[in-house]
Amino acid sequence: MPFSALGLIDHLRKALAEEGYNSPTPIQAEAIPVILDGNDLLACAQTGTGKTAAFALPVLQLLHQSRMHGEKRKIRCLVLTPTRELAIQIGESFTAYGRHTGLANTVIFGGVNQNPQTERLVKGVDILVATPGRLLDLIGQGHLHLRDIEYFVLDEADRMLDMGFIHDIKRVLAALPKKRQSLFFSATMPPEIIRLSAAILHNPKEIMV
Ligand code: AMP
Repeated sequence: MPFSALGLIDHLRKALAEEGYNSPTPIQAEAIPVILDGNDLLACAQTGTGKTAAFALPVLQLLHQSRMHGEKRKIRCLVLTPTRELAIQIGESFTAYGRHTGLANTVIFGGVNQNPQTERLVKGVDILVATPGRLLDLIGQGHLHLRDIEYFVLDEADRMLDMGFIHDIKRVLAALPKKRQSLFFSATMPPEIIRLSAAILHNPKEIMV
């Protein structure tokens, strides 16, 4: 199956061709149309399945199609992920896949000086990839807010809980608009993950790969 069968716009297909991607992985083939249709998603998927592109491509498309030109950028998509390494990888994926869309992303994580991160936020981004602790720090200091979020992605939810991020996740959820599209990814689905997903998602479509 080619990417064109999934309804992706030329800007994205061009970037995928440049990346050398010929066809979607199973999770991409299932998730992309579901997300483009505006559904919440509960996906059980391991790293290495192509799950990053499964959420990044449709989110880029939805943001691109509704972008108001000439308006200042607002943070319209938040991706929460447990580690700095994953955050950096996801940010690089958004940059690569979105290179013909004009959309901007940045990545924030702890353990490093926050000033370069806050300076980047001042310039404006459409997509923010973050680890929970530094995100809450910067919100607390007034460097950003989440009132304009339309797309929320929780990546590696099971690892987040294992790392003790449940309270941070709940604080982030409390700062998000109620009206949003949410995408939830976890490699495993123990009861506490199902409970967390139920608190985040609204009538989700489920994908198990
Ligand atoms: P992920 O599971 O998101 O960490 O992706 C695993 C790896 O697969 C990454 O190196 C991606 O660049 C690569 N990848 C993702 N989707 C595709 C695709 N459709 N065709 C070829 N490579 C892909």
